Amino acid sequence: MSGLVGMVLSLLLSVGGLETGASAPSSTTARPLAGRVVVIDPGHQLGNHHYPRQINRPVPAGGFDKPCNTTGTATNGGYPEATFAWKVAERLRTRLERLGARVVMTRTTNRQDRWGPCIDERGRRGNKQRADAKISVHGDGSYTAGAHGFHVIAPTDRRPWTHDIYRSSKRLALDTRRELRARGFSVANYIAGGDGLDFRSDLGTLNLSNIPTVMLEAGNMRNAGDARRMTRASGQRAYATALTRAVRRFLD
Ligand SMILES: [Zn+2]
Repeated sequence: MSGLVGMVLSLLLSVGGLETGASAPSSTTARPLAGRVVVIDPGHQLGNHHYPRQINRPVPAGGFDKPCNTTGTATNGGYPEATFAWKVAERLRTRLERLGARVVMTRTTNRQDRWGPCIDERGRRGNKQRADAKISVHGDGSYTAGAHGFHVIAPTDRRPWTHDIYRSSKRLALDTRRELRARGFSVANYIAGGDGLDFRSDLGTLNLSNIPTVMLEAGNMRNAGDARRMTRASGQRAYATALTRAVRRFLD
């Protein structure tokens, strides 16, 4: 286009932009995550315990093999980790989609007659789409007396597996910790370091990812206080809100 036409066009566009900016939030304000892809990985599957052969099968986990999955833990009252992870993931998905993100889920059901996917599939999910971030949602099951609080697990630097993502994943972990604290969640008092962060090289879900990734252990389901918050809708909403804010902060 000619210089003059271009100038007129850009003048018109900037005037249009000013007008929409003054009267209503622009589309980027209302949908700040438009164009972004976020993977949510709700830990385990409700029916895993019915399928021991399938979930014990060894799968690649980043230079070594590990069982496909585990059954996950539960509260002392029997509320399953898989259901907690699912409820938070669903709420998180709704919030992220409302902000314009495209959300990819590693599992799309929470059912007793289903199992999987395995950790290798969870770990690779989002790689092909070059997703912007992945969050795995879990609950822990420690029997240590008084153990409570959340911790965020990020991959260590392990060539060639996580060298490309360990720095960005640590940033995502810091943003996640910050936003959970801001919603009143306290960091775990039973994990070495005591700062709510854990760096691990033994998790296939983290090792096989080529996109920034963290695994949240949202609380200790065997602790009465944590269990209360993790099983209530208000608590699950608070987790989802914190994770939404963490993703926004990370992608900003
Ligand atoms: Zn778990």
